[in-house]
Amino acid sequence: MKNSGLKIWLSVIFVCLSCLFARAQQKTYAIIMERINQDLQVGINDGVLTKRITKNLPALKSDGSWSDINYADVQYDPLNRIKDMASAYIRPSNKLYQNVELYGAIVKSLQHWLDKNPKNKNWWYNDIFYPQAIGQTLILMRNAKTQLPVELEKALINRMIRKLKTGDGANTSDEALHYLYRACLTQNRATLDSAAKYLFEPIAIADGKEGIQVDGSYYQHGKQQAIASYGRVFAGNSVNAAFYLRETEYALPKAQLAILVNYLKNTFLRTVRGSFYDFNVRGRGISRKDSLSSGMGGMVGKIKLFDPENAAYWDASALRTARKKAVDYGITASHSQYWKSGYTLHLRKAYTFSIQTASIRTLRTERGNNENILGKFLPDGATNIQRSGSEYANLMPVWEWDKIPGTTSRDYPDDNGATILKEWGTPGTTKFVGGVSDGIYGVSCYDLNYDSVQAKKAWFFFDKEVVCLGAGIKSSAKENITTTINQAWLRGDVASSNGAQANGKGEIWAIHDSIGYIFPQGGNLEISSKVQTGSWHRINHFQSKTELKHNVFKIWLNHGQNPQNASYQYIVVPGIDVAGLKKYNRSMIQILENTAEIQAVKHIGLDMLQAVFYKPGTLSAGGLSLRVDQACTVYIKDLNGKNPTLYIADPAQENAGIQVFLKLPGMLKPQNINCNLPAGALSGATATFKIKE
Ligand code: CA
Repeated sequence: MKNSGLKIWLSVIFVCLSCLFARAQQKTYAIIMERINQDLQVGINDGVLTKRITKNLPALKSDGSWSDINYADVQYDPLNRIKDMASAYIRPSNKLYQNVELYGAIVKSLQHWLDKNPKNKNWWYNDIFYPQAIGQTLILMRNAKTQLPVELEKALINRMIRKLKTGDGANTSDEALHYLYRACLTQNRATLDSAAKYLFEPIAIADGKEGIQVDGSYYQHGKQQAIASYGRVFAGNSVNAAFYLRETEYALPKAQLAILVNYLKNTFLRTVRGSFYDFNVRGRGISRKDSLSSGMGGMVGKIKLFDPENAAYWDASALRTARKKAVDYGITASHSQYWKSGYTLHLRKAYTFSIQTASIRTLRTERGNNENILGKFLPDGATNIQRSGSEYANLMPVWEWDKIPGTTSRDYPDDNGATILKEWGTPGTTKFVGGVSDGIYGVSCYDLNYDSVQAKKAWFFFDKEVVCLGAGIKSSAKENITTTINQAWLRGDVASSNGAQANGKGEIWAIHDSIGYIFPQGGNLEISSKVQTGSWHRINHFQSKTELKHNVFKIWLNHGQNPQNASYQYIVVPGIDVAGLKKYNRSMIQILENTAEIQAVKHIGLDMLQAVFYKPGTLSAGGLSLRVDQACTVYIKDLNGKNPTLYIADPAQENAGIQVFLKLPGMLKPQNINCNLPAGALSGATATFKIKE
């Protein structure tokens, strides 16, 4: 008796708890769905929305199809049009709010989609875009006074079901997002469990695989830098997921939050200057119109709601990327060496300077789906130099693609020379590619051997300037070999000392758009400031064929035909005018060596030395002696101070240790330093040694 009474009580308690639990769950679905609903309506301008709908509606036929849409190759429309109509229908602020005809149009166009079941040749539309767009429309329509017919909604929800391709980085989180929509619509716990799991799955360090790397960069399509291409999708989806699921039982776990915040703060957002991306981080997307416009405002604003700890930082970033504050607002100096991706990012209040390179460990920037057709030289030391941010925005259709800023290549007569013939990424050709960094300053190098052109290229990063050196430039190709300094929008005057001295040995300079260029040893400098023509279609077959004419500033050094051991040196000084350049104290910078064996620069004012040793060797200059027994990159801070610091890295990622012999002017006796280098996943990273007497 006693026992069965207890059993009854336990059952009652169990039923009650289940009820409570179910109710809590229901509340969770409602909270998440309302957040998604609000998010879908952020930034909607009712006037613009209504205009778009009234423009599109006349083409809607009685069977629910659009006369101007080819259903054999459906992309964003008609689903975007249907979503537009759903937004207007549920918004009290919209003229078409609760409009009966609009409701009819929504129902019949959705019914037509369901019956027709269009498919695209590109899986991305079928498995990602279609179910996402349907889910969004259905969530919006849940707010409608007159709901969609139950059977129609049910059938559309079933149509959203796709098998998840797990472990596919940004694509996985993209797919998991429509799982989340479906979970809310169906209040299905299992679907919500897997949505949360797979939305957050890519937030992890995926050493060598697609996703976030141990150095903070991002890979997709193999070992290819994809920080703001696929990494943008990853960032957007992860932020949305963390934002939707915050403060629920599904909230992003702390350890993963730290990984996401680190990626956003220390990599992703640093690649945006003002509201424009660095062109080096957009992958093949560089060939799409507006691809350098970050369109970030909304996303950054969400982060502080799940990461209140860094609220001040997110607020500053949101204001800056939305152009409500100056481009340097909240910017602090940093220097990041992404040894996994061959990417270097140097940030100052006055400018952004980045480099993209390729090695045998990584893939060259891809051409794919006939996008980025002419980007053959993008990973050959392309330098992105931004001040306002918009220096390159939408200039790509008219670029001369064998004169990408920073690269050394053959100067072809036409586009054929810059055409990537093979789809998707191919491996780089050399191994000595990387650099050393202390987080603020650093040096990077690139051993170029591509398209029958060889060169040793290096970049030395300081505060006001970046020193760019090239040596051992060699080619037997029939074209001239050129090193392009920049190719950007022509803005204002070009001033230069070029002309009389151009072929001489004396120092020459040029300045344009508040960026100064100094050539300490002259060189065959060429500058052009004229109209260049092209089209988006030229670089991307999905884009417009309309011919564009833009004014372009282009500056390059011509090494001539058949160079056998040519070299170059130039100093980029961003944030300066002609008067400033004349006053600029060039003697602060001493270029100690620029050969195919050693490239070294000393900065007197900053009291530092940066050097690239392409083979074991000794650098001697002004009482300083530095000998290394392996090829490496070295940077010494506080050269004349009491406790200098030695930073060292192996760009080839092969050596466990390097022996350094060092004699500095102030030292009583020389020192032998046994430098053990980071291993495993950290191979290629910088090692630090305090030098004490
Ligand atoms: Ca050319």
